[in-house]
Amino acid sequence: MGFSTDAIHSGQQPDPVTGAVITPIYQTSTYAQEELGKNKGYEYGRTHNLTRASMEKNIATLEKGKYGIAFASGLASTHALLSLVKAGDHIVCSDNVYGGTYRLFELVMKDYGLEFSWVNTSDLINIEKAIKNNTKMIYVETPTNPMLNLTDLKGVSEIAKKRSLISVCDNTFMSPYFQNPLTFGIDIVLHSSTKYINGHSDVIGGILVTSSDKIHERLRYIQNATGGVPSPFDCWLVMRSTKTLAVRMERHEKNAVQFAKFLNDSGIAKKVFYPGLSSHPQYELAKKQMRGFGGMISADFGDVQTAKKILKNVKIFTLGESLGGVESLISHPASMTHGSVPKEDREKLGITDSLVRFSVGIEDIEDLIDDVKNALK
Ligand SMILES: *Cc1c(COP(=O)(O)O)cnc(C)c1O
Repeated sequence: MGFSTDAIHSGQQPDPVTGAVITPIYQTSTYAQEELGKNKGYEYGRTHNLTRASMEKNIATLEKGKYGIAFASGLASTHALLSLVKAGDHIVCSDNVYGGTYRLFELVMKDYGLEFSWVNTSDLINIEKAIKNNTKMIYVETPTNPMLNLTDLKGVSEIAKKRSLISVCDNTFMSPYFQNPLTFGIDIVLHSSTKYINGHSDVIGGILVTSSDKIHERLRYIQNATGGVPSPFDCWLVMRSTKTLAVRMERHEKNAVQFAKFLNDSGIAKKVFYPGLSSHPQYELAKKQMRGFGGMISADFGDVQTAKKILKNVKIFTLGESLGGVESLISHPASMTHGSVPKEDREKLGITDSLVRFSVGIEDIEDLIDDVKNALK
């Protein structure tokens, strides 16, 4: 099936009791058992919920995977993922991941005996070099937040397969509409469904998708054992949202391409980071592994004053963390999402104090461009 057909139908059958076209919100913590040892396959809400199962199936299909395992936030899914390794194990990570991922790994999980190497995964040699005898996982984010660097997913999966390592890709920025890491041989895809998948800035959620029976079995066990599951209502909202993912992503991208061109051609920004610009150093890789360029753009305005002026004066862009919603958001990575990354490390990555990140929404593009122009007046 095509993406939109899957988005609207996968995981969703009319409710067998009433024929309701939309999967109901099964807002229940427990289920009546017919007699001792006999039930309908549902015992307790943490373990089984049909609204959640429908949403998991829906997103798994969109990611070309067999199984989806949902959590109450993107970070809860990242945390659950780490249950696949144990104390003494080593993980090679992209050095420019989402700030919260860095915080979880470096400032929380390191204390539990996990070891992390942070390398620029845009160059696969760096991954090879970082692998040690105790390496168990390669964790990449592509494109990265906020610098929009890409990592070659096929290359990563080949390195991982050769050494029997688990490969993981955080695909939040592209959404399943523009990129499907599993099709390049990656073992697990991670999403903060808070972002494009839900897309309406009203849910916090996360999901892991895999086609491996073995990984699924373990993660399903972990989901129940650690219990960080999303509410039935949140699952329902996410499923409501995936129905329009294709049309939203098309519009996000159309706007972002125009917005990036405006920033670039007007000379307002010193440097624009967007994989859809032919000046992006990995433009060719972008065209190879993505079906579009997404809606995220970062721009370095050269001096802090200009950056602050834009951040303070825009009226349609909302200053705020997060991304991927229908409304445009603007943020300052150095003090917001990446505040917990030490300044020297930030600067090395290009996250200067004059860098501004735009999550280009689906409003009228002329209004978004005028918003920035007016902010600078
Ligand atoms: C937001 C985000 C996360 C964390 O997700 P939450 O839902 O906020 O817990 C992880 N990765 C990326 C790329 C993100 O943007």
